[in-house]
Amino acid sequence: MQTATIDPTVLEKWDQEYIWHPFTQMQQYQQEKPLIIERGEGSYLYDIYGNKYLDGVSSLWVTVHGHCHPRINRAIIRQLEKVAHSTLLGLSNVPAILLAQRLVQMAPAGLSKVFYSDSGATAVEIAIKMAYQYWQQQGNEQYRHKKKFLCLQLAYHGDTIGAVSVGGIDTFHRIFAPLLFETITAPAPYCYRCPWQQEKSNCRRECLQELEKIIKKHQHELAAMIMEPLVQGAAGMIVSPPGYLRRARELCRQYNLLFIADEVATGFGRTGKMFACQHEEVSPDILCLAKGITGGYLPLAATLTTEEIFRAFLGRPEEGRTFYHGHTYTGNPLACAAALASLDLFEQSGLLQELPEKAAFLSGELAKFYSLPHVGDVRQKGLMVGIELVLDRTSKEPYPPGAQIGHRVILAARQKGLILRPLGHVIVLMPVLTMSIDELRQILEITYQSIAGVTGE
Ligand SMILES: *Cc1c(COP(=O)(O)O)cnc(C)c1O
Repeated sequence: MQTATIDPTVLEKWDQEYIWHPFTQMQQYQQEKPLIIERGEGSYLYDIYGNKYLDGVSSLWVTVHGHCHPRINRAIIRQLEKVAHSTLLGLSNVPAILLAQRLVQMAPAGLSKVFYSDSGATAVEIAIKMAYQYWQQQGNEQYRHKKKFLCLQLAYHGDTIGAVSVGGIDTFHRIFAPLLFETITAPAPYCYRCPWQQEKSNCRRECLQELEKIIKKHQHELAAMIMEPLVQGAAGMIVSPPGYLRRARELCRQYNLLFIADEVATGFGRTGKMFACQHEEVSPDILCLAKGITGGYLPLAATLTTEEIFRAFLGRPEEGRTFYHGHTYTGNPLACAAALASLDLFEQSGLLQELPEKAAFLSGELAKFYSLPHVGDVRQKGLMVGIELVLDRTSKEPYPPGAQIGHRVILAARQKGLILRPLGHVIVLMPVLTMSIDELRQILEITYQSIAGVTGE
């Protein structure tokens, strides 16, 4: 049955009737006309009426080389003709092996083992359990106390209970507080709303001084620190000041805790380099990858770790050192084949080399957004952009949630042929990495007009 032959109004009705959408207030959703995507090509998505939209958020931060890329399509089809799935529990498969080898080659130095799963949240769950078990299996008795995790305020690491425990976004996480394990938190490096009221000019990295104090105090009980390197994505594209990542990593080494880099959002070119950690020459003990790993095609995630951590899990079966964690579709061959094709494209297309020019274009154009009086802060790292809207620029007073300011801006953008997804009052731009300068310009123009229209200028 061809979906195209189904009456669009029936699809709209069934969407309302049968689907509970994630991160969506369904009462509001059911009052709006749903946007139903039928196909994609390059930088564009097309709805069931044939309307064309620029994909301004890379389909929730995943699309890398564009939609319906012939090379990735072909790689999946070729694998499909061999086998769609076979388990990684005790067996192996060809694309999973080839991809693991590639990931280790390209990852920051020292990461040598790949543990697969299927989403960002599971990549983080694995990192947490791995770090925890690592310390429990050390010979040194003192290390058995290392059971806690240090995380940043405003962090987002996914929606499963472990990942929520190390998260810090009140709106999403507050209600689940009684279900979560206890963590130690440090202030977010949120320069626009600096807790110490500092400006860039007089910043003495108070956030890092505070971080060191916390680590020092809790070192004996800390298993690991987890953070999103360079950009706290879901918090509203909060870009940490230069050197923050590097220093956080150093502190973890100095005080003997593991450093987990959650590059689920920042990985695969998004920040202008393959991995955000590479901007500050950081090698984490554990690296979480997902979102862009398959070029935005299929669910796949990987948690990479070091030889040292891996070795702590070795022993005879009866010793109980085995890592008892796994997901049914772990290392799915179709997803791994898509990921391999995506990495081939990175190598052959010169895409990474084009990113600095695109990022520079964005930053030049984004400066103009400050002419809109309700634009409080514009943040950018590579091709990740957050535009924070405020009710009052001087006091930085945020819009009240009821104003639905972000939502109204993205609905306005949709009318003009651009798909966006806000984070509350922050307008997010996450262009597909292969977008042309001209497409980037269109995204910026539509976004500018939409903000201007909605905020009443
Ligand atoms: C999106 C995201 C996750 C969760 O990934 P899912 O695939 O949605 O589970 C985890 N960490 C970061 C930094 C993310 O941006």
